[in-house]
Amino acid sequence: MTISSKLPEVGTTIFTVMSKLASDCGAINLSQGFPGFDCDPELLDLVDQYMRAGLNQYGPMSGVGALRQRIAEKSKLVYGVDLDSESEVTVVSGATEALYAAVAAVVKLGDEVILLDPAYDSYAPAVKLNGGIPVYVPLEMPDFSVDWEKVKTAITAKTRLIMVNTPHNPSGYVWTQNDLDTLAELVQDSAILVVSDEVYEHITFDGRKHLSLLTHPVLRAKTFVCGSFGKTFHVTGWKIGFCLAPPRLTEEFRKIHQFLTFGTVPPLQYALADFMSDPSRYLGLSDFYQKKRDLFCEGLKETPFVFTPAQGSFFQMVSYGHLSDEDDYQLAVRLTKEIAVASIPISVFFSDKRDLKILRFCFAKEEKELLDALEKIKNIKI
Ligand code: PMP
Ligand code: GLN
Repeated sequence: MTISSKLPEVGTTIFTVMSKLASDCGAINLSQGFPGFDCDPELLDLVDQYMRAGLNQYGPMSGVGALRQRIAEKSKLVYGVDLDSESEVTVVSGATEALYAAVAAVVKLGDEVILLDPAYDSYAPAVKLNGGIPVYVPLEMPDFSVDWEKVKTAITAKTRLIMVNTPHNPSGYVWTQNDLDTLAELVQDSAILVVSDEVYEHITFDGRKHLSLLTHPVLRAKTFVCGSFGKTFHVTGWKIGFCLAPPRLTEEFRKIHQFLTFGTVPPLQYALADFMSDPSRYLGLSDFYQKKRDLFCEGLKETPFVFTPAQGSFFQMVSYGHLSDEDDYQLAVRLTKEIAVASIPISVFFSDKRDLKILRFCFAKEEKELLDALEKIKNIKI
C-alpha cells in the first residue's frame, strides 16, 4: 500500500534524533530543551494528593476552573491585564497543542500564514496540515530581530495569520515595545490574526522584561497567546500549557481543542493551581536561569566559539563559521560522538535548512553538568 504523505518533507524531529544520539553515546545532553533537574517536591506532593483524592476522571474540557483562575491572576500580576477565566483562558496538553489548535481554528485552505524564519519546528506543519500556505519572512542577522518592512511586504489579501515567538527559540531574542507597536500597526485595520508563542515568558535576562502581546490593546483583541507550564515549573514531560484569547477566538479554539485532546490531566491541573498561589514560584525564574546562562557563557569564553549572551529562553547559540566550513548538523553529531556533548544545529529551524554555522546549547542543567560539558567543549577540534 502506498500512502501519499501529508508532510513529505518532514522526518523525525531533531529533538528526538539528538536526544537519542546523546543517550546512545552516553553524552551530556544539551540538545533538546528540558531541565536537567526535577521540579519542586511540593508540586509532586500536590499531584499525589489530588490523584489519591480520586480526581482521575475527565476534567472540564476548557480546564479546571481553579487553574484558569490562577492563570488569569498571573496575567494581572505580571502584565496588568484582566482576563476572564471563563471565556478567555483554556488549559491544554502543552503549548504544542495550543499552537496547533489556534492554527486549526482559523486557517482555511489557501490562507497564507506569515512565519518568521527561523521558527520553532511545529509551526509550519500545523499550517500545512490545515491547508494553509507558510510565507517565510527571514529574521535579521546576527540578533534574530524582526525587519518589519519585510513583514509588511509579505502581507497580502490572503494573509490570515502571523505567528510570532518571544523570547525566541533558538536565538533567545526578546521583543521590544517597538516590535509590539509595529506589529499592531500592521494588523490593526485588517482581518489578520496573531498566534504568539510565549513559552519562555518567565525567562529573560539582564533586566529585560518579557512583553506579552496581551499588553497591547490592539494585539490583545487579535491574538492567541500560547504558554507552557513545562518551562516554568521544570515539568516539560507533563505536556501542560494554556491558550489566552478573546472570547470569540477562544470559542473557536475550544471547538478544535475538544476534538484534539478534550482535556488535560486533572490532578496536574489542581496541583498547579495550588502551587501557583505563591507567585515567587514563577517570578524568580529569570534570576534562577540568569545564573546558569552567566556560568555557561563565562565558560564559553574559553572555547573557540563566538557568541552573544542570550536575552531570554534557556538556550545559548554559538557560532563557529570563523573556524570551519563543516555542516552544522554534521558538527553537532560529531561533537556528540567525539566529545560527548550534544547540541542542536540551527539549520533545522530554517525553512530552507540554511546553514549559518551555529549550534544551540540548552543551559537548563545543574551547575556540575554545565561545568563538565564546558570542560569537554574546551577540547573540541573544529
Ligand atoms: N514553543 C517553543 C518555542 C518551544 O521551545 C517549545 C518546546 N518546549 C514549545 C513551543 C512546546 O511546548 P510544550 O512542551 O508545552 O508543548
Ligand atoms: N522545545 C524543545 C526544544 O526546543 C523541544 C521540545 C520537543 O522535543 N518537542 O528543544
